[in-house]
Amino acid sequence: MTTQSMPAAALDPRTLLSIRGLRVDYEVKSPRLSRTPATVLRAVDGVDLDVHRGQALGLVGESGSGKSTVARCIVGLVRPTAGDITFDGHAMGDGRSREVARRVQIVFQDPYSSLNPRMTVATAIGEMLRVHRVVPRDRVDARIDELLEVVGLGRRMRNAYPRQLSGGQRQRVGIARALSLEPELLIADEPVSALDVSVQATILALLQDLRERLGLTLLLIAHDLAVVRQVCDRVAVMYLGRIVEEGPAESLFGDARHPYTRGLLRAVPSLRPGVRAEQVAVVGEPPSPYQLPSGCRFHPRCPIARARCAVVSPDLSLGDHRAACHFAWVPPAPTDGGLLSGVPPVHEVVP
Ligand code: SF4
Repeated sequence: MTTQSMPAAALDPRTLLSIRGLRVDYEVKSPRLSRTPATVLRAVDGVDLDVHRGQALGLVGESGSGKSTVARCIVGLVRPTAGDITFDGHAMGDGRSREVARRVQIVFQDPYSSLNPRMTVATAIGEMLRVHRVVPRDRVDARIDELLEVVGLGRRMRNAYPRQLSGGQRQRVGIARALSLEPELLIADEPVSALDVSVQATILALLQDLRERLGLTLLLIAHDLAVVRQVCDRVAVMYLGRIVEEGPAESLFGDARHPYTRGLLRAVPSLRPGVRAEQVAVVGEPPSPYQLPSGCRFHPRCPIARARCAVVSPDLSLGDHRAACHFAWVPPAPTDGGLLSGVPPVHEVVP
């Protein structure tokens, strides 16, 4: 069964970013076996997603789930094999205008590799302002100072080189560079996974603050649900190239319906005293993307899989909180508001 595409939401005025039927195939060829046909690796398979203006959407999944590939398609770094991406009604294909491209910016995981080691902070930010002519030339210096203040660095950092900065400071410079183009949508691709735990919270707080102060729309990509819980009001969970659950953060964290999401949630530190997070989020390794499982792709690791699961691929359900599982289940309301409180183990769910 193929994944059904949602109808276009172009008429909904709240929608800033709309993705329909996104598919990305990579042809992988062995350099030593030139006559062997290329193997197709399907990194993204039929993703539908909407991001509303001013919303913070978290896109979560293990390594290899395809979440970063989705981000790279949005900013034009990866060409989709199929599907449509529209931003504020404009198609984000090869012919996207410079103006539309400017309105969508991305911050990468590794702040060090995204900065030129020979450029000072001021040069790196000023380069963006000059190339894209965001402000008149005589305003560039003042704008650099403003941006450094906005990201909490201050103008004293103007003449620093990347090697002289901490990981958190480099990430703030990366965010300042992205903000220099005055984007409406900021994509943060694993922005804290290369940082110390103590610094992670400050960068997430900065993103939350920028979102509120500048009215930004945010797409936050992470492998850890605990990261998106701090910032996002909506969450989409990806597994092997597909979205398996998507909905309001409060609903997803309180009433997760897909066994994969429920597994990821068990590794999130609980808000309830005395409840410890489990070390292993989901048992077993993700299957090879070259040999995707039949039926539901999660069935080899799913604690409640049935015979049907190995044959029939589930589509995402309809509604505001969607899940792709034959046995997607709505648990009773939590009694004390805690994470997963009142939710029985998944193996008790299916009769
Ligand atoms: Fe598990 Fe079956 Fe649901 Fe897939 S469809 S998540 S294998 S119960």
